[in-house]
Amino acid sequence: KCQLPPGSQLRPGNHMDNSLDLWSRTDVQTCTYWRAPVMWDGMFNPQHYDEVYRRQNVTVALTVFAVGRYLDIYLEKFLSSAEQHFMVGQRVIYYVFTDDPDRVPQVKLSAGRSVTVIKVLRHSRWQDVSMLRMKTIADTIDSLIRHQAQYVFCLDVDQEFVGRFGTEALGDLVALFHSYYYHRPKFFYTLDHNPKSAAYVEQGDMYYHAAVFGGTWQQVKTLTQSCYWAIMQDKNNQVEALWHDESHLNKYFWLHKPSKVLSPEYCWASAIGYRSDIHVVRLVWAEKQYSFVRQ
Ligand code: UDP
Ligand code: MN
Repeated sequence: KCQLPPGSQLRPGNHMDNSLDLWSRTDVQTCTYWRAPVMWDGMFNPQHYDEVYRRQNVTVALTVFAVGRYLDIYLEKFLSSAEQHFMVGQRVIYYVFTDDPDRVPQVKLSAGRSVTVIKVLRHSRWQDVSMLRMKTIADTIDSLIRHQAQYVFCLDVDQEFVGRFGTEALGDLVALFHSYYYHRPKFFYTLDHNPKSAAYVEQGDMYYHAAVFGGTWQQVKTLTQSCYWAIMQDKNNQVEALWHDESHLNKYFWLHKPSKVLSPEYCWASAIGYRSDIHVVRLVWAEKQYSFVRQ
């Protein structure tokens, strides 16, 4: 049985445990076999979570990369929508990594929230831009973030917040169940089955989406450092994992089970269409014009 997450409320009519009435859902998986909660709308009381974390005066770091054309196309929408929905009422520091700091848009921020812009190199291959984020994040946690925030979320920029993405998502080590795979048998998971790659996994538990992961700065530092080492090991062996950093992230979460899993509400793809178990959409991927951004 899952542990009662902080801020959870008791309510009659529970199906998880006869002695303890939890809020829950019967139509979706709410707990992993290693007893991590899978966060779905209806399982938690948002106000309670917010009060608990407000009292702790936490600061949440949100890292996002906007290199090359991604800066013009996605960053403004990402930041302004985060102001509407991401950890509202909490202290937040956005760490924006870009090759062109002068072009970072000014977004109106609420009290207790700020943006730190960090210049990074623009790698010529998009695969490297994506994969080598792991190293930059690890280094920045070490040099900066650990002195400023307790929790770190690392997100892709090509998405937009459309609903609450709140303190219920905070945890030691947080992964996100990929919206394309949560309904599908493991057979379909696009894990890396190449034994030459450090990302090799035979089966996997869930297929996690690399567009969102997080945790305490300690956990995220270890995760990003490990993924970076694995990526470099592959480079030395002249192999590249099937889905780049996502394959390495999935390997990491296979070896180190996340303490919390976010439901696909936290990174939904509109192209999937209507699903009766998705009551709330919190973050959506932007439609991508690949020919335009990846040239
Ligand atoms: N990215 C970037 N510039 C690039 C390629 C990637 O800034 O040229 C960053 C950006 O934050 C993007 C993330 O790396 O969201 C992952 O790349 P992408 O979203 O293209 O990968 P996908 O989600 O399609 O797998
Ligand atoms: Mn993306």
